[in-house]
Amino acid sequence: MTPPPQGLTHQPATSQPRQQFGSDNYAGVCPQALDAINRAATGSTPAYGDDAWTRLAAKAVTDLFDAPQARVFFVFNGTAANALVLATLCPPYCSIIASEIAHVDTSERGATEFFSGGAKLVTPPTGDGKVTPASITQAMRRTRDFEASTPAVVSITQPTENGLLYTIDEIRAIANTCHDNGLRLHMDGARFANAVAALECTPAAMTWQSGVDALTFGGTKNGMAMGDAVVFFTPQLAQGFAERAKQGGQLASKMRFLSAPWLSMVQSGAWLANARHANAAAAAFAQAIAGIDTVELAWPVQSNGVFVLMPEHVANTLRAQGWRFYTVFGSVYRFMFAWDACMDSVAALAADLRASAQG
Ligand SMILES: *Cc1c(COP(=O)(O)O)cnc(C)c1O
Repeated sequence: MTPPPQGLTHQPATSQPRQQFGSDNYAGVCPQALDAINRAATGSTPAYGDDAWTRLAAKAVTDLFDAPQARVFFVFNGTAANALVLATLCPPYCSIIASEIAHVDTSERGATEFFSGGAKLVTPPTGDGKVTPASITQAMRRTRDFEASTPAVVSITQPTENGLLYTIDEIRAIANTCHDNGLRLHMDGARFANAVAALECTPAAMTWQSGVDALTFGGTKNGMAMGDAVVFFTPQLAQGFAERAKQGGQLASKMRFLSAPWLSMVQSGAWLANARHANAAAAAFAQAIAGIDTVELAWPVQSNGVFVLMPEHVANTLRAQGWRFYTVFGSVYRFMFAWDACMDSVAALAADLRASAQG
């Protein structure tokens, strides 16, 4: 375990496991992102994004997507990225269709409604957390009359909050339904890199080539200290975004400390290597807990999360042993794996789970 900084008196209990899998945000900063901060740390550089680091980082992102026309912005976190993109795409008197488990609806304190100044989130039921063309048309049918907040945008999460992936064909079908109905398609890619790694496709194929209009591209969960990117694949759609970001307190004055890590992560390939590692750790954990009586996966493991159904006493025992993990969707136990997942710790968690379930 990393020693706490000197002067920090709070010491974790010595019996605590070395590494936790409660959230991919428990992880630290990867070397590539940290080196970039160090390299940008000295010297005088223009503020508010008018600097070379930010220009190069934006260029690296548009190159990554093979989309020279795209507009790229860097904000502090994913909630802001989502809320500001959706506010930019959706008039305040319209609505946004998303899954009933969408982070934008369940975990952002109404940020989208707040920043849009009135847009409504419409969350039709879905079987497995994934929006479908049918759920979009159903939601559209319900909001047809003039008094309703008519849908203007669909937001999908890739991978979803329960760790599932939309295939390229599914994204394309959703985009077609959107565009046939005059809706824009937003992708919440807080874990976009994990999806690209898992599907082994290009970032372009997963986004604009399949009809995605705007993307929240997560950097924090990918190994940075902070900073998510927003990509508008059609430049006109970005109109007003910069102003909203400033108004919302999301224009970093020393922008280079958000953007330089992006440049480094993309150029070094760490963005993808980190995601591959995280996905592999999740797969290893799922495999290590396979075949235990009374323990099963709530959904197949497709990215860097493992969602487990197990008796409450097993979860309680694990927690009493010091393991930290979330209970989500009421009764599912979530384990998230990040760029820094140590395979020994993954094995230790799996062994404790097995012992607790079989004991
Ligand atoms: C983590 C996450 C976000 C962003 O959350 P922040 O805590 O604001 O960075 C957005 N969407 C999904 C699906 C997430 O998991």
